[in-house]
Amino acid sequence: MPGRAFTIRLGNGVEVLGKEEFRFDADVIEPTGTFCISHAHSDHLPKRVVGTSVVCSDTTLRCLNGRSKKQLTQAHRPDIETFDAGHMSGSRMFQVEVNGRRVLYTGDLCTRDRCGNQGARPVKTDVLIIESTYGKPRYVFPPSDLIASLVRDEVEDNFSQGRPVSLYAYPFGKSQDMLRVLREFSPFADQSVFNATALVRSEEDPLECQLWDGDDPDGPFVVICSPWLNRTKQAEALRRRDVKRLAVSGWAIDSGYKVKAGVHEAFPFSDHADFNDLIAFVKACDPEMVITHHGFSDSLAYEIKARLGIEARPLIRGQRSLLEF
Ligand SMILES: [Zn+2]
Ligand SMILES: [Zn+2]
Repeated sequence: MPGRAFTIRLGNGVEVLGKEEFRFDADVIEPTGTFCISHAHSDHLPKRVVGTSVVCSDTTLRCLNGRSKKQLTQAHRPDIETFDAGHMSGSRMFQVEVNGRRVLYTGDLCTRDRCGNQGARPVKTDVLIIESTYGKPRYVFPPSDLIASLVRDEVEDNFSQGRPVSLYAYPFGKSQDMLRVLREFSPFADQSVFNATALVRSEEDPLECQLWDGDDPDGPFVVICSPWLNRTKQAEALRRRDVKRLAVSGWAIDSGYKVKAGVHEAFPFSDHADFNDLIAFVKACDPEMVITHHGFSDSLAYEIKARLGIEARPLIRGQRSLLEF
């Protein structure tokens, strides 16, 4: 049935091109066409905005409009189904129909419930385009609750010795998780974490934190800061003092991570699905074909074929996947 074939390729974002055309996490929002933005991490946001409307959550739109002069509105598209991707506040998966086939695009994905975020639930689909950040079998994380309590214990230990703590986490997503985990310690936030938090807080989830100005409060304190803090005055203050430096990242599984990140302790905590989560999610979505991208896409495609017997291939720039059914 050649009439049902369509193409998936990496062009202006992830392009799904059949009788209908969709672009996911595109670099440029063009004046015409359908553009879906999965979440507000900068590697998924457009670099240039020419068009006027996109499909995304309220939170993503707020973050997007907060950093661009050109203001976007939400496109009204009842034909595009959206599902919580569980990755960060407002992160969404999209399901569209192309030439009579259901295509699910996950964006960044976390299927585990963690720190007040509900994980993404599988969606039955014909074609699945899935992220593969941790697409190698060695990336398997301990339960989030366990890591959360280890982080709390670590902070408490340091406080009991009068030692302040800095904790590195990306401003959007993991920082808010850590604000929830460390609520009882009245955490401080650096400017970027503070700004990001202001954009995603809600009445149900107030995410209380104080802005850290680089001065020492009385007694030990914990400050959640961006890994890119290095060049600021605050970073100098953190280095001058006897500060215990912690980080939360899925890459903490790698033995060299602590040294590379310049921290004393690193905890394998992520807002992405780990390898086992990815495989379980693919299985439950029950697709005929999987396209992997973002991260270890070769490895994940290989493992999906080997473990689940489902056709899978990585999305490679310059190559198109023609899907024929
Ligand atoms: Zn992300
Ligand atoms: Zn990403």
